[in-house]
Amino acid sequence: MEVEVKLKLPDSTTHQNLQALLAPFHVITHSQYNTFFDGASAELSTRRAVLRLRFYGDNSKCVVSLKAKAVLVDGVSRVEEDEDDIDPLVGQECVRDPTHLRSVESRVVKRARDEFGVSEKGFVCLGGFRNVRGVYEWKGLKLELDETMYDFGTCYEIECESTEPDKAKKLIEEFLMENGISYSYSEASKFAIFRSGKLP
Ligand code: MN
Ligand code: MN
Ligand code: MN
Repeated sequence: MEVEVKLKLPDSTTHQNLQALLAPFHVITHSQYNTFFDGASAELSTRRAVLRLRFYGDNSKCVVSLKAKAVLVDGVSRVEEDEDDIDPLVGQECVRDPTHLRSVESRVVKRARDEFGVSEKGFVCLGGFRNVRGVYEWKGLKLELDETMYDFGTCYEIECESTEPDKAKKLIEEFLMENGISYSYSEASKFAIFRSGKLP
């Protein structure tokens, strides 16, 4: 289970201000490209699941994730998640031609095929989006500051994975309020926003 705090920032200026505030705690910035797949007969989506391939930087790394049954309440997201690394070149092949996912050797892709009964028709690519993720070590928390670029606009969000999400949320909210950073509880996942085709 992945549990994370998700707070939405209203605009680019707020994102820049927060970036400046967090600069002393900066660890790394990732450039990510996320692509999503369903079974050709919607075998995954009908069971509230999705398969994601996430590419890092110059395709130096590719992570495949199977995410299911996401719930987002009061800025805390809970989702069943299983992840695996695959060869980025194989990953790129799958984006170009999703039928390749039928033969990819990965425990997670195999689960998507077997447990969700993806038929002979195989997988279809739903498209994707770019995300720039700043990672910060702050007060024992790992904060992720996201700038997510959809075809229809850009969203800004701060995320924090934690086993004690309410505690983490309180700390982050206090920090944002003390520094005059406006925010709201995220009401949709990045994938849900992508699928909706419009900014929330
Ligand atoms: Mn995760
Ligand atoms: Mn997330
Ligand atoms: Mn995460």
